[in-house]
Amino acid sequence: MTAFKFIENKNFECHTEKIQQNQSAFCINTTSEYELKILLAEDDLINQKVTLKLLEKMAYTADVAINGIQVLEYLEKDLYDLILMDIRMPEMDGLEATMAINDIYGKKRPVIIALTADVFEGAKEKYLKAGLDDYMAKPVTFEIFQNMIIKWAKKVNHKRKKFIFK
Ligand SMILES: [Mg+2]
Repeated sequence: MTAFKFIENKNFECHTEKIQQNQSAFCINTTSEYELKILLAEDDLINQKVTLKLLEKMAYTADVAINGIQVLEYLEKDLYDLILMDIRMPEMDGLEATMAINDIYGKKRPVIIALTADVFEGAKEKYLKAGLDDYMAKPVTFEIFQNMIIKWAKKVNHKRKKFIFK
């Protein structure tokens, strides 16, 4: 298992469970090291709730867009670090939205992670080729979700620090 820096914060359930079991516990300090501004693009109400719950377990919140058009509207108003992108959405789907974001923002765009029920063979490759950064299949376990978010949070924050100290 990857070793992550553990920041003790007893407010978070995910910590205390693991501490008690004496497992390799880690958690995220959203106020500093792993701060992330997250946008969740998901048209299904239940899936929205499930993903927001997973984020909450990591002490994150997210704004919610229900299609690609809303994603673009959010990006115009605010700076986001990471988008959790459903693929199948009405009006503008996740792939169209990703292509539009790439066109508009180029390298300055947020990290985009597919969170989709599309689990056909080659799905991940297809989405990465289309410009998404990573891929998770729904339903996702907390462990996979957490590892994925932390992986990208570290990259985002590394980039941010480099930018600040330049
Ligand atoms: Mg959908």
